Amino acid sequence: MKLSKAHLKTLREVPNEAEIPSHILLLRAGMIRKTVAGIYTYMPMGWRTVRKIENIVREEMDNKGCQEIRTSVLQPSELWQESGRWNAYGPEMWRIKDRNGRDFCLGPTAEEIFTDIIKNDVNSYRQLPLNIYQISNKFRDEARPRFGMMRSRDFIMKDAYSFDKDSEGMDVSYDEMYEAYTNVFTRCGLKFRSVEADTGAIGGSNSHEFTALCEYGESEIAYCDSCDLAATVEKATCVDAVPEKDMEMLPLEKVSTPNMKSIEEVSKFLGIEESKTIKALLFVVYDEEGKEKEYVAAFLRGDRELNMTKLINALDIPEHAIAFADEEKVGQVTGAVTGFTGPMGLHDCKLIVDSELVGLRNLCAGGGEKDYHIKNVNYGRDYEGDMICDLKTLKAGDPCPICGAPVKHARGVEVGQVFKLGLKYSEPMKAVYKDENQQDKPMWMGCYGIGVSRTFQAIIDMADNHDDNGIIWPMSVAPYHVIITQVKVGDEVQDRVSKEIYESLTKAGVEVLWDDRDERVGVKFKDADLIGIPLRITVGKGAQSGLVEYKLRRDLDKVELLVADAINQAIEIVNKEKDGRNFF
Ligand SMILES: [Zn+2]
Repeated sequence: MKLSKAHLKTLREVPNEAEIPSHILLLRAGMIRKTVAGIYTYMPMGWRTVRKIENIVREEMDNKGCQEIRTSVLQPSELWQESGRWNAYGPEMWRIKDRNGRDFCLGPTAEEIFTDIIKNDVNSYRQLPLNIYQISNKFRDEARPRFGMMRSRDFIMKDAYSFDKDSEGMDVSYDEMYEAYTNVFTRCGLKFRSVEADTGAIGGSNSHEFTALCEYGESEIAYCDSCDLAATVEKATCVDAVPEKDMEMLPLEKVSTPNMKSIEEVSKFLGIEESKTIKALLFVVYDEEGKEKEYVAAFLRGDRELNMTKLINALDIPEHAIAFADEEKVGQVTGAVTGFTGPMGLHDCKLIVDSELVGLRNLCAGGGEKDYHIKNVNYGRDYEGDMICDLKTLKAGDPCPICGAPVKHARGVEVGQVFKLGLKYSEPMKAVYKDENQQDKPMWMGCYGIGVSRTFQAIIDMADNHDDNGIIWPMSVAPYHVIITQVKVGDEVQDRVSKEIYESLTKAGVEVLWDDRDERVGVKFKDADLIGIPLRITVGKGAQSGLVEYKLRRDLDKVELLVADAINQAIEIVNKEKDGRNFF
């Protein structure tokens, strides 16, 4: 491709709305353009890279015997009613009506459609297992779209669904997808980790998230250097503090704590550790119509942080059905007092108590009265919970739930997730097959997603894949492999040498961008660095003596080579790196 004929508009300035390197650089390099918040157009260079990522995904899926189909993005509500998710899914689902008032959604995922297709097509055990996938746009009505494609309203996702005869078969399908995902992300040049994850709105029993490691990511993972622990922070279990069973329960003591509303203030004021206090958090839970259903108070040790995912799972409610309560407002009903709420004296409210509070002694809690706290509060004697479970967030430095060593945290971007769904969809949607004895059996399912547009962006956020000057694409996903930067267009020798390199490389299957624009060479170098083409061959004055400059984007060094040597070296490195398997 001659750059003089290409549509490429790069920006020198950092766009206002972009905060993280990948978003800034994609906009600056002219690879994407914003339409409105959370909705983007992929421009020619960007789209080439997206298609390469898609093709890596296709190759690895097809290698595992999966087959690609394509469903409509429009999904009728009836299917979601069948699975019970039409109400459960929440405000992120993009709901629309047709002219006759029939409800549809723009698919955020497609378990229902795939289950419906397979249950109608498959009736015998002889037709199983099956794994079907698609790569298509998915939609999510994000409240706050940000970070470009990381949290956008329209994104590209690969979603696959496996159907097996039994749970053993499902385990095999899951393991195969796990392997395929490892290959995909490796070939895309991501540094990643697979971690145990919560199953969330998709459901099922078992799940792993693939997290690309970078400091800008929204996901937080916990891992341990001494054992195999690796989990999202939402999922990671916590170790309870050692119970103080032998400690004597002291008598309750009401203490004045004027205006001391936070755990920090109270513990400082009373001269006690934050770990000797009880933290209270009040929530309101809504029903399917969005009406207030009940109040929930969660209690945990003062120095702990509530893990919202664990609370939602304990209550068995959708994520969108719970919100922090206005204590002022619910105080009359429940007896809560802003800043002074404790487990005693609450009524008309469900009490959920973190498991470790049960064994701890003589803690300080809100007094249920303005400007008062109560010391020496003990579980069992002074209050009881309607539910006891682990509500804590595993923090860096906390003991590992498996081996006890201090846990570490890392940030990252979730680029893929695999789920063992089991019978979650096949049972309500009646996806059954006939076994060897003509008995109806439900199919065992798995589902597997890759965020293609997220991967596109996460690649750039890897520390090795960008610098101050721009993107550094890995060869496997670069929009072009080589850029020929011709210093002076119209110079007879440079024209001839550039053309020779362009034609030789193209003939060898190398994808070449030829910067033949009538621009200053400084502008050309800047653009080449910004768009991140892995290899640059500069044709300048040296061409008179048959020499060109050869430089890899990822290296600082450049070398002068004879034209033929530059061509040969380029072909060699492109062939070695273009499918990304050199990363294995
Ligand atoms: Zn460990």
